[in-house]
Amino acid sequence: MDIDTASDFKAYIIGDREYFRWRDRTSGDTMKKDFALSQSLLDYLDLDFAGELHGLFRQAGEHLDVPELFSSIADQHIYFELLRHEPKAAGIGLPEEITPTENVVAYYPENGWLLQEQAKELIGKNLRVDDQRGWTIQQRLADYAITQVQPFRFDPIQTCFERLDENNFAEVLYPRTVRDLVNFFLRELIRREITFKTCRCCGRYFPSYVHGNSEYCERVFQDDKTCKEIGAVSMFRARLEEYPAMQMYQRAYKTRFARIKAKRMTKEAFVVWGEQARVYRDRVMAGEMELEEFEAWLKG
Ligand SMILES: [Zn+2]
Repeated sequence: MDIDTASDFKAYIIGDREYFRWRDRTSGDTMKKDFALSQSLLDYLDLDFAGELHGLFRQAGEHLDVPELFSSIADQHIYFELLRHEPKAAGIGLPEEITPTENVVAYYPENGWLLQEQAKELIGKNLRVDDQRGWTIQQRLADYAITQVQPFRFDPIQTCFERLDENNFAEVLYPRTVRDLVNFFLRELIRREITFKTCRCCGRYFPSYVHGNSEYCERVFQDDKTCKEIGAVSMFRARLEEYPAMQMYQRAYKTRFARIKAKRMTKEAFVVWGEQARVYRDRVMAGEMELEEFEAWLKG
């Protein structure tokens, strides 16, 4: 089979990063982007095909000769960079389903959404860090392949093994469709047995190896704050509610801190008080001291 490299778009993985390379149509320059492994796929799962993208694809389908439309689409996700070169790449990638008409790109929102659902399901059922059944990833996938109504189909993809630079020689994907890209990255996640957690703040997947035991991802959630930052605050509040001693300490701490500002207490006295207060607080939390006793001390 001849490899069709007409689009000049390629994807590959080196270490724990994924790379995309293509030739800019106007300048002829080689463009390159890279991300942490699995990021492009996770970002794809977040795309809103019913929103702005829907309109962009519909318009592009009608006006295939307007490069600005394809640029706007490419800006939404790295996989869509492929469409700028090859609008037909928006086909779902199953030979019988590729529409021969030129405006196949107009159908993409539906195809893209289906592809997104399948990828999400595959990760949710097989690549979660915690599996209730205690199965290995291989066992889960073996089961998924026969029990899932419409499992993700890992159709053949076009890859080469080639030199990338003076330090690297790796498997390179020449995607024909956006589906090929999803296929390529899902394979790698399975091959490496990379697992995911569901963020307790935004509900989206993040790789479980990224930051230790965190239950929160590092995406920006609101007001420039990441889920991880929001999670730290809410866990602190939850601890306060769970432990009255913690709450009492916190309140007394604030009162005394205000006294320093008002020069009614010295910093030194505050430090001494703080050390003692934390010892008592921890004793109460460990069940070695009565809460009332601690309360009386704080008031004294
Ligand atoms: Zn999150």
